[in-house]
Amino acid sequence: MSKTMRYALLSVLVAVVTAWGLVAPAGAAREIDPRPSTEELARQLFDLQVRSRGEVRVRPIGTSNQGRPVWSARVGHGPQRLLYVTQQHGDEPLGTPAAMEFLRDVGVGNDPHQRWLRDQVTVDVVVRANPDGHELNWRYNYDPDADPEFGEAGKGYDINRYHDPAVAPEDNPATEAGLIQRHHADFTPQIAVDFHMQGRYVDGEGREITASLMWPTNPGVAEEPLNLAKQVSVVARNAMDDGGANVSQYPGGEYQGIARNAYGLLGSGSVLIELSDMGPAHEQFQISSALASMHAIANAAADGSVHDVDPAQAEAIPPRGEPVPTANATRTDD
Ligand SMILES: [Zn+2]
Repeated sequence: MSKTMRYALLSVLVAVVTAWGLVAPAGAAREIDPRPSTEELARQLFDLQVRSRGEVRVRPIGTSNQGRPVWSARVGHGPQRLLYVTQQHGDEPLGTPAAMEFLRDVGVGNDPHQRWLRDQVTVDVVVRANPDGHELNWRYNYDPDADPEFGEAGKGYDINRYHDPAVAPEDNPATEAGLIQRHHADFTPQIAVDFHMQGRYVDGEGREITASLMWPTNPGVAEEPLNLAKQVSVVARNAMDDGGANVSQYPGGEYQGIARNAYGLLGSGSVLIELSDMGPAHEQFQISSALASMHAIANAAADGSVHDVDPAQAEAIPPRGEPVPTANATRTDD
């Protein structure tokens, strides 16, 4: 075999292997900024729109109380509609850079897998739902006049308590929650996944939980979206555990203002994913873990395999255990 021919065969092999995702993309080892400023995030989003030749479509779904755009970035044009929401809580940042990597992986390039995936799914990401909270490095939105039932007087609302389907978006006191309500109603996703961060916990054997997840627990959610949420949860858990994570159930409440419950009540297979706040040394791992869940859910929706999962497997995901004794585990629900 000639050298040229060997090289040609090797190139084909590399191309095929890369297309099937068996080799990490060349950029995987680079350091990802865990907390890009909201200005930098917008710059990165429009850069993605250009580099993807319009496969990633960026537009604001509205404006935060401090006047920052809340961005939607949409990739794909297939019949399976997925909504990913990141950073409703401003100080829970890592879902956002994971979403940026996801949009780049799916949108930039034209290999057979990317083209196939974009034909099957439309993934809409609300990237950093709470830009004011990010800039202020706090949980709530910015609304100093608020004296909220959920939130903190003088600071703002806890956005993830104001998705109650009984409250119309125009009557929603939490501005950014109203934006997401309206966006969900326009897009009507079959699957909705909300990315958060939690404190540090161990499992029953004392091994650290790196992430927790949960499906809707409000008793009003219909069987079909509930089962789909459980199937999505199993897909996400398996993908994250395969990457070295240790995923548990999340002990979340029934309140219908929580996005996980609200969008389940509205018929989406709605899932919460909480990355544990394990400190700076683990942030790159946590970003890649969230990214793995985003890819796995999109792929399983695309090829229909999510519907083959036994929802009962979700119930077998172990419960979250005790807080890590020395860690700051003060973050609250969802
Ligand atoms: Zn949260």
